[in-house]
Amino acid sequence: MKGRGDKSFFRSIRLVLIECFVFAAVVVLFNGPVRARPVVSRAPVARMHPLVGAEFHHPIQKGFVDRRCLRRLRRLKVRFRKTRSVRGVATPVEILGGRLGSIRYRSFFGHDHMLMDCRLAVALQRASPIFRVNGVKEVLYSNFYSWRNVDGTNRLSLHALGLAVDIHGFVARNGRRVMVESDYEKGLGRGRTCEGHAETWKARLLRDLACDLDASNLFGRILTPDYDHGHRNHFHISTFHPRDRAKKRIYRTVLVDVKGVLWPWVLRRPVRARYRLSRIRRIVRRRQLMIHRWYRWHRRVARDKRWRHRRG
Ligand SMILES: [Zn+2]
Repeated sequence: MKGRGDKSFFRSIRLVLIECFVFAAVVVLFNGPVRARPVVSRAPVARMHPLVGAEFHHPIQKGFVDRRCLRRLRRLKVRFRKTRSVRGVATPVEILGGRLGSIRYRSFFGHDHMLMDCRLAVALQRASPIFRVNGVKEVLYSNFYSWRNVDGTNRLSLHALGLAVDIHGFVARNGRRVMVESDYEKGLGRGRTCEGHAETWKARLLRDLACDLDASNLFGRILTPDYDHGHRNHFHISTFHPRDRAKKRIYRTVLVDVKGVLWPWVLRRPVRARYRLSRIRRIVRRRQLMIHRWYRWHRRVARDKRWRHRRG
């Protein structure tokens, strides 16, 4: 009798242990594994809700000049001029000739003045193969540096630090203009892939480009018309703050407006943001393959149509 009692006792302990394990598994599944919290500097940092413009707006240390970045820019053979100090910008440079890598930058409103922080110039230079492979020849921007706040708040925008660019459209390889306002299809990428299924080639180009830039880890955030009404006509692309040394992107870039159950999952998903040439190469190769497949598929559809037409 005694042995039987022991057995049921052990069985109940086992049941409790299994329950604990299942509970822990469920917790880990929905919240992600427990991670050490990132060390946040003591400087007064204003952060808003992560997906509503979490831009760090602590001022840059006085006298901070990123010489390493300037050397890097020189090594990348970018034509630039170091300018006098500009309010808010740590390492102001002016790009000459409107060219970063193989991409030509042209002002949408007709006043070309590419004043920005050195880091943004380096990031855009490194991203030029991504623009290229997506069939972009020219970028139509509206502004790089401007001293202003984020719309509707009293926080400084990353434009005021020279770390962001607003892109209104592109000139494709075939010479046609692709504008964000008229050609972007909202709500793509809610499925399995970031790209989704765009209906026109222009929308496909815009979406593919945004996804590739996001995957490159060169940029802290890419805001598309999916984000809010203020971004209905441009992509807002920004790099990292100079004091953000870890270069770690804690929150995934907002490409779609995620609502409901997925919201907390997206917030917690950590993304390491570190530049690697191999990563850019991988993105370019993948895109080449995808575009090739897309064209082949369209050719087949067109051929089938012709064939059906001839028979019918
Ligand atoms: Zn912007």
